[in-house]
Amino acid sequence: MKILVVNAGSSSLKYQLLDMENEEVIAKGNCDRIGIGGHVSAKTGDGRKYEADCDFPTHTEAFEKLVEILTTGDTKVIDSMSEISAVGHRIVQGADIFDHSCIVTDEIIDQIDALAELAPVHNHPHALALRACKKVIPADCPQVVVFDTAFHQTMPPKAYMFGLPYDVYENYHVRKYGFHGTSHRFVSSELAKAMGKDVKDLKIVSCHLGNGSSITAVDGGKSVDTSMGFTPLDGVVMGTRSGAVDPSAITYVEKKLDLSPSEMSEYLNKKSGFLGVSGVGSDNRDVQQAANDGNERAKLVSDMLVYEIQKYIGSYAAAMNGLDAVLFTGGIGENSWEVREGVCTNMDYFGIKIDKELNRSVRGKLIKISTPDSKVEVWIVPTNEELLIARDTLALVNANK
Ligand code: AMP
Repeated sequence: MKILVVNAGSSSLKYQLLDMENEEVIAKGNCDRIGIGGHVSAKTGDGRKYEADCDFPTHTEAFEKLVEILTTGDTKVIDSMSEISAVGHRIVQGADIFDHSCIVTDEIIDQIDALAELAPVHNHPHALALRACKKVIPADCPQVVVFDTAFHQTMPPKAYMFGLPYDVYENYHVRKYGFHGTSHRFVSSELAKAMGKDVKDLKIVSCHLGNGSSITAVDGGKSVDTSMGFTPLDGVVMGTRSGAVDPSAITYVEKKLDLSPSEMSEYLNKKSGFLGVSGVGSDNRDVQQAANDGNERAKLVSDMLVYEIQKYIGSYAAAMNGLDAVLFTGGIGENSWEVREGVCTNMDYFGIKIDKELNRSVRGKLIKISTPDSKVEVWIVPTNEELLIARDTLALVNANK
């Protein structure tokens, strides 16, 4: 069975075609610059590559190109789209309407589109892609939607409510939703497998650290709290996002710099975080390098990240009344020994002790980095959101046969 996984943004369409017999990637690529030109880069599992400038006025033309790449020329991997059993789409915001993945209907596409108010950058392009995809796949090929927010729908009200007047929750759905749910769900279940335990018996703090970062308390396989909030801006300091800031500081800066609300939003989302504090850049590698070279502000923001993660681990151990394992995933979590070592230093009170030498020598693979006498196990668990989307898609298609 072959499953196509799609991650559509406002100007891009990333895809992976997976063979679910062995869960291997047959082809992947990105149709980019939709609406502002067009460019495609594609690669097959056996290493064939294709790159070209194109004309992508809308997502429909990008999907047409995707079909052409998969079925013809040097990058051909299938004879026709009828070989694809289903398409799984990543959807950022499902709000409190969607607590699990589901097979797409026209009504569901409309609901996803209507949630654009809560996720303007993401949900409308997702709806456009769902409609465009329908035009290029056979009529009997189901589409499935997998929501970043769904995993966090198990949070109790005391975790997801803000201390704002209740009517903004009732009238405008203002609450914590959490994000990266597909990743947190995938890595926490992979970790349980690696530990030889049932995820239902584990209390895990899952640290997804990348350009965007979120920390989640996973108790018995369920998200009970998470650091991102109403939008992916909340929580720890990120590449260009501020993370949590006293709300009064925001209105104060808005006034001082004479910014409009949308300019302030841009300031918090695009100009803050590693970039804003260090002045070096948004990429952790550049910031780390600058810190190693003696740049004080780069060192400061690296220390801030580590300290904030440590505080989340402490507060989530309290929220779950226990802690069995901490896992690191995402570009930073999987690759940066410095961040992992920083987070796991001076955490003896929690029973966290890592093998420093081992931690420094490994990256990007599933491995335990805690010492045998560490009360809490610490692991690197590579994430694979596309695989989870493909697995959910396959399961739903099989269940509906
Ligand atoms: P992601 O958003 O998950 O793709 O992660 C992107 C982040 O991971 C960027 O800040 C990168 O600097 C960071 N990253 C990727 N590779 C490494 C590495 N080898 N060492 C440190 N950070 C890395």
